[in-house]
Amino acid sequence: MPVELDDTDIAILKSLMEDGRKSFRTISRELKISTPTIKARYDRLVNIGLIKSIRPEIDVTMISNSNKKSLSDDLIESLKVKKKHFHLNIDNLKVKMQCDFCKGPINDKPKVLKFANIERFFCCISCRSDYKEKYGGRIQSIIEKHRENKKN
Ligand SMILES: [Zn+2]
Repeated sequence: MPVELDDTDIAILKSLMEDGRKSFRTISRELKISTPTIKARYDRLVNIGLIKSIRPEIDVTMISNSNKKSLSDDLIESLKVKKKHFHLNIDNLKVKMQCDFCKGPINDKPKVLKFANIERFFCCISCRSDYKEKYGGRIQSIIEKHRENKKN
């Protein structure tokens, strides 16, 4: 199933492609769309697997000189290059989605499992229930953590 993107999704992607380090607030100002909307859309793009990975951003300037001595120059250089902290999986735009359980293609409408702010997609209901069974404990702790965060 190809991923359906609307104008807002595309605007967010374009904005992130210019600079992957932009904050949601910056994008919000740029596109004149509220920050929570940007955040929700971004989360969705990550959930459907379009935005592949989010790497931690490392500010090399904050590493002290004494620390730098114990890190190799190569490592420091490679940290500097990783400025863009997200990686787009453009193939997913055209290609089908992948079942989050059996990793097979989702040809039909995906079966969705939502918990906390996460969505998982499956090719069939048995994959969805198997996933729930296998990761039940983890799902529960994510939900609880999410609830805690909301309270604070
Ligand atoms: Zn499956």
